[in-house]
Amino acid sequence: MTVQDARQPKSPTLYAAHEKIYPQRVFGRFRLIKWIALVTLLGFYYVAPWLRWDRGPGVPDQALLLDLPGRRGYFFWIEIWPQEVYYLAGLLMLGAFGLFLATSLLGRVWCGFTCPQTVWTDLYLWVERWIEGDRNKRMKLDKEPLSARKAMLKVAKHAIWLLIALLTGGAWAMYFNDAPTLVREFVTFRATPTQYGFVALFTGTTYLLAGWAREQVCIYMCPWPRFQAAMFDERTMLVTYEEWRGEPRGKVKALAADGSKLGDCVDCNLCFNVCPTGVDIRNGQQLACIGCGLCIDACNGIMSKVGRAPDLITYDSIYNSAQRAAGQQPQHRFVRPRTILYAVVIMIIGLAMALSLSLRTRLDVSLQADRSPLFVRLSHGDIQNGYTIKILNMIRQTGDYRITVTGIDDLRLKVIGVDDNTVTVPGDAVGTFRLLLQAPAKSLHDEATHIRVMIEDQTTHETSSHDAIFRGPEK
Ligand code: SF4
Ligand code: SF4
Repeated sequence: MTVQDARQPKSPTLYAAHEKIYPQRVFGRFRLIKWIALVTLLGFYYVAPWLRWDRGPGVPDQALLLDLPGRRGYFFWIEIWPQEVYYLAGLLMLGAFGLFLATSLLGRVWCGFTCPQTVWTDLYLWVERWIEGDRNKRMKLDKEPLSARKAMLKVAKHAIWLLIALLTGGAWAMYFNDAPTLVREFVTFRATPTQYGFVALFTGTTYLLAGWAREQVCIYMCPWPRFQAAMFDERTMLVTYEEWRGEPRGKVKALAADGSKLGDCVDCNLCFNVCPTGVDIRNGQQLACIGCGLCIDACNGIMSKVGRAPDLITYDSIYNSAQRAAGQQPQHRFVRPRTILYAVVIMIIGLAMALSLSLRTRLDVSLQADRSPLFVRLSHGDIQNGYTIKILNMIRQTGDYRITVTGIDDLRLKVIGVDDNTVTVPGDAVGTFRLLLQAPAKSLHDEATHIRVMIEDQTTHETSSHDAIFRGPEK
């Protein structure tokens, strides 16, 4: 380093070293809600792939299965073909607007109670606390030099974390494979490299994100906290410190400099100590606050001990907090323009999906015109177009389908290899056929004429159609 370099002022660094957070155990209403959410969500996640649903012989009997090789999605009694992937898009839109509605009503309820990152981190923290003890013991242990006891505790913790991660990765793979078969093949080393790879990937990400990254995912990686504020208004329920009541803070018996009584906050720091993201809520709303409410439980415990009214940290709207500060009655208002808008969109999408599911046919047809040549002039002057027709029979029984075409006078139809234009398609399959259409030149008034190809199930009389173009010479 030159003398000149040494004189230069140091530029501020944008990197802040990670400080490990040691959340303290807490009891209360919000902690209980979090336990209920954790048990329900994780219970469903791990158990759902084992639920069976009888769909008849030769068809997967797993209630929830995304069968990628078979190109089918099974959701209990609903079976989705690749052509119906818009149902998945509808589900995603329902989820998104449901999240917008919940956020505008209840703040960061998704982040605090149901987000997978929160749920698995909570589970990992419970394991850590169970093995290494509560906050102070964990902090002490981490400061201690390495000893046999410390090594044993750390190995036990990481072993359980890895086991949970493996179960999580394995359960994820079961949504794409028959669960009992996958487990059997996995433990007998007969699973495919892709299956081992996916389980390893999800095991690794669960272990890293829930065990090591924890709150850093919420603070630095997740985009949701960055734009969810757009869904808040003054009536949104948020975790808030009632500064008007708590300040000036100080020990129970202490007095302010002028001898007057201090605010209700006894400056015990418990709200900070229990926070899983290391937030001091007394500093106001912060991006890192996931709205889990654990600081409310902690503070209510303290308030009860010192004989003061609960809810110094409260789960309420900014409007109500201001009302209380002004000595007015708080008032909840859940029906607001934005919540109405989100609810209406959810209802429209939900109704459209329900209607479409109840009315959907189990038959579909598509048509692909030959590109080269576009048409052929036959020796007697008629114009011929060739097509490939695909018929999707989405039921288990074999179906006979009669093909008809409308749109051109005196049009003749020929299905290659079939005598009476009635084709047979096995159950749960796609039938592909060659179709020749011949039209007298005098029936064509344009070089492109719209036609409609219809198929009719000869047993159920269900129909499906596809519009196409018949090409002819320039007029
Ligand atoms: S400040 Fe309170 S509500 Fe926010 S994350 Fe911390 S404990 Fe949860
Ligand atoms: S837990 Fe309550 S009393 Fe204790 S520091 Fe936090 S706000 Fe103040």
